[in-house]
Amino acid sequence: MHIILIGPPGSGKGTQANLLTKLLAVNYIATGDMFREEVAKGTELGKLAKVYMDRGDYVPDEITIDMLLKRLENTPKNGVLLDGFPRTVGQAQALDDALAKRDTAIDKVAYINVSEEELTRRLGGRLICERCRSVYNEATHRSKRTGICDRCGGMLYQREDDRPEAARRRLSVYFQQTTPVLEYYRKQGKLAEVSGEGPIEDVTFALLTAFGAASVLPD
Ligand SMILES: [Zn+2]
Repeated sequence: MHIILIGPPGSGKGTQANLLTKLLAVNYIATGDMFREEVAKGTELGKLAKVYMDRGDYVPDEITIDMLLKRLENTPKNGVLLDGFPRTVGQAQALDDALAKRDTAIDKVAYINVSEEELTRRLGGRLICERCRSVYNEATHRSKRTGICDRCGGMLYQREDDRPEAARRRLSVYFQQTTPVLEYYRKQGKLAEVSGEGPIEDVTFALLTAFGAASVLPD
């Protein structure tokens, strides 16, 4: 089983990826983590990727794909959940080619659909603890005392990136980049769109159903 989870920032993708990985007992590959691991290990690809990451740029497709393929080769064959990849149609094609060489393919792609208005509300309300980095949200997950971390009592602040204007810009870039990728998988008949606006467990259920795996849930 090779599945891909796609969702805009603020869609709850990270939470769902975590739940799905456990429920489906698949290998989780997030390209963001993969970069950090390769950098930490000091591999050739990691060193290359670091140059871009240090500048705050996206790591170029060729490097990402090389890393991902290496990772797939070393992954047990019980299945993979990809998160954060592919970002572009070029990457999606390269991934299809690479999987075809292993006599396998992407089975299903799920997109967590949340309206732009709701995403802006969620992203624009993000607060982070300056001490322990816990994440809160004025829209979805408030701290008990305004501006104070529940866990460590630290002060909460808003990153420049998380202000509503910045959130809108981030989303617009995200949609520009992602819409063609969704179209690519839609044409292959592999795309399922799932609403990400309901409670977490409803979204999980809808995703499992989309992956044809709702039976993993207890009754
Ligand atoms: Zn804290």
